[in-house]
Amino acid sequence: SSLRQHEFQLYLQPKVTLKTNQCTHAEALVRWHHPRFGNICPSAFIPVFEKNGYIMELDRYMFEEVCRYLQTRNAAKKEKLMISINISRRHFQNPAFLEEYAEIKERYGIADGQIELELTESVFFNEEQIALVKQAVFRMHQLGFRCSLDDFGSGFSSLGLLKSFDVDAIKLDRIFFEDIAQKKAQDILCWLIELHIQVVAEGIETEEQLDFLRTTTCDMVQGYYYARPLPAAEYTAWLEQFHSVE
Ligand code: C2E
Ligand code: MG
Ligand code: MG
Repeated sequence: SSLRQHEFQLYLQPKVTLKTNQCTHAEALVRWHHPRFGNICPSAFIPVFEKNGYIMELDRYMFEEVCRYLQTRNAAKKEKLMISINISRRHFQNPAFLEEYAEIKERYGIADGQIELELTESVFFNEEQIALVKQAVFRMHQLGFRCSLDDFGSGFSSLGLLKSFDVDAIKLDRIFFEDIAQKKAQDILCWLIELHIQVVAEGIETEEQLDFLRTTTCDMVQGYYYARPLPAAEYTAWLEQFHSVE
């Protein structure tokens, strides 16, 4: 019923391209404005929804919200935006979800490459699942979605995963940047960034972290340094402001 009452809202957080200092990318993040309990953050309800299965409906709802936003944005004839969406590992028990997502994407007239699906390492929890995810990533590309590996470095990240899965981007977890002053952390980061795969640094909060990233070939930066996740309409306003200052 919370879905029907539109208690869930689409927030967008900018990802800024370092080289050009332009913002054409964002990540979609859900916020629950509960009439009785107020704002509930995703870490409090996503794990519950993953257990009881409601995550499927929530992710689908968010996906459609993103398509709706992009449709309006495309109609405004501004520069094309690209939005990434978090996909729960639960979806991989039924890879047919991709066909439904592709249908929605078509219905809203969203171009190929405008939507990226973010997976976390937790999707790869056993051999059987690994085979399923491999097929799903292949199908994602056929259907015009990009695919990224989220939270890299937060769990038992394996370079093998990067080798075996044809992802278009990796998102380095903010944990990487917490001890940026350490030489070892810098070396690992530089090495990852040199892989020929798009790299997004997450959770960047300080000028110091940004200065370090500028010495690397990291592609995009996402974090409070630029902006917190914003309600979709505020994100549109933020974009105008950001580009007018540049
Ligand atoms: P995530 O996908 O790794 O998203 C990034 C999280 O880091 C977001 O937390 C964001 O608000 C936060 N963040 C961004 N910049 C900074 C920063 O500079 N410093 C700090 N400390 N944090 C920063 P949020 O929005 O609370 O979401 C938490 C997680 O919940 C997400 O992590 C994602 O795994 C999940 N999630 C959010 N929305 C959805 C959704 O629609 N579907 C699914 N399946 N999962 C979602
Ligand atoms: Mg994410
Ligand atoms: Mg992340």
